[in-house]
Amino acid sequence: MTTPCCGRCDGNLRSGWSFAFKPPRTTSTTNPAAPASTPVIKCARCAVQHKPLLRRSLMASLVVGTALTLLNQGDTLLSGHWNQALYWKIPLTYCVPFLVASYGALTNARQ
Ligand SMILES: [Zn+2]
Repeated sequence: MTTPCCGRCDGNLRSGWSFAFKPPRTTSTTNPAAPASTPVIKCARCAVQHKPLLRRSLMASLVVGTALTLLNQGDTLLSGHWNQALYWKIPLTYCVPFLVASYGALTNARQ
């Protein structure tokens, strides 16, 4: 029996710590009737570096983080009376949706 390996680093996959992602799109149109490709299985370390996942989380962070910043700090920002706390509150406001989106995507991809 062969041990399952990560599709990126060839490391061994631990039970509950493997993640399935859609295979990268191919530009080939030679056989449009071809069946769907098998998913790419990655270890946890490679899964958190999965570029489409990071890209989607970054987009969620930009949209949701901007909305939350405007809702929570908009009056302070527009008044021009910035205080020191904004320099850590605003970056944290963008980190939260990034982490939530990444966690959700990893939870959905977990096998
Ligand atoms: Zn790996």
